[in-house]
Amino acid sequence: MSSDSNKEYDGYDFETLAVRAGQVRTHEGEHSEAIFTTSSFAFASAAEAAARFSGDVPGNIYSRFTNPTVRTFQDRLAALEGGEACVATSSGMAAILATCMGLLQQGDHVVSSRSVFGTTTVLFDRYLRRFGIEVDFVPQTDLEAWQAAVRPNTRMLFVETPSNPLTEIVDIAALADIAHRGDALLVVDNCFCTPALQRPLALGADIVVHSATKYLDGQGRAVGGAVVGDAERVGKEVFGVLRTAGPTMSPFNAWIFLKGLETLGLRMQAHSAHAQKLAEWLEAQPSVARVHYPGLASHPQHALATRQQRGYGGIVSFEVKGGQAAAWRVIDATRMISITANLGDAKTTITHPATTTHGRLSIEQRAETGIADGLLRVAVGLESADDIIADLARGLG
Ligand SMILES: *Cc1c(COP(=O)(O)O)cnc(C)c1O
Repeated sequence: MSSDSNKEYDGYDFETLAVRAGQVRTHEGEHSEAIFTTSSFAFASAAEAAARFSGDVPGNIYSRFTNPTVRTFQDRLAALEGGEACVATSSGMAAILATCMGLLQQGDHVVSSRSVFGTTTVLFDRYLRRFGIEVDFVPQTDLEAWQAAVRPNTRMLFVETPSNPLTEIVDIAALADIAHRGDALLVVDNCFCTPALQRPLALGADIVVHSATKYLDGQGRAVGGAVVGDAERVGKEVFGVLRTAGPTMSPFNAWIFLKGLETLGLRMQAHSAHAQKLAEWLEAQPSVARVHYPGLASHPQHALATRQQRGYGGIVSFEVKGGQAAAWRVIDATRMISITANLGDAKTTITHPATTTHGRLSIEQRAETGIADGLLRVAVGLESADDIIADLARGLG
């Protein structure tokens, strides 16, 4: 849980917070943040132990829920997202699960975009239902459908913007209004933009969740997640789930993500610049039927993206003419780009959604969500944009 150690950074810019927020030096005077690999913490006396356990005195107890390296990461991410509290988790999915466990109960109803991460759909559709929580899925950009799906017992609206892989963008402020007109919270998965490009809490969202595995790390090294929001819901309720159920981030992984945050702003600018160049090039290729990238004037929500985001991000998807065979040809002709479904890495990755990440969907579901057989998703990395383009050009003849 976030502490008061960010107070001294009030008023600093994003770039400064990304490098410095949350750090508390020990008596050793270390300049880089220390990794506290300890499961528990010792107390000076029985009375101190009792005061810590009761919560009367703040401080470390046990690394399932209090660890200085993890706390530094939490405080830094809270500062970057503009939230009062942050809880770090063992994965992005654990962040979403902990949010649901902390803020929902049997009989509640959730409205989710149908374009969320596939595993999130499974978590909602299969597992939440088992515990008596109903979920409806609506088209990402159709605000009327969101409004129509809200019921008296709707407690949560869940969205990811831009979506994967089609980069559909929803108006966060408008969705927050729909949630708050009822008795619901708006939860935004801010994985694709990160706080460097988009700050959902400032737009009216209540909770931000992250897969730290992606851009927060930025180099494909570790799996982790986080929940950011206010002191009551995140600092108490979600933290309570973490403390009790234990989907905890390890201190070593927290340190990796902490170091990732220091370069987040620079990396997101570079990912966005390379993706823009690639998207513009793809749009000019005769063998490409359609390009999905919020930075293109042809993107249906280009104006909204420009207003809502500080950059367009690193994910580009495009549909080649000739269906699956043509799409696979592009993948198999690459020499440098990695064939893997991960994203948010310095290394560019390419994937064929219809037969990988979205392969579990029926043909009808894929048609509904626009996952065509010729669709490819590229998570544009930090290599030279010209080399990335040349690698894709090989199979696009
Ligand atoms: C990867 C991902 C997740 C899940 O995160 P893990 O760290 O893999 O558990 C959730 N949301 C989005 C948008 C993702 O890309």
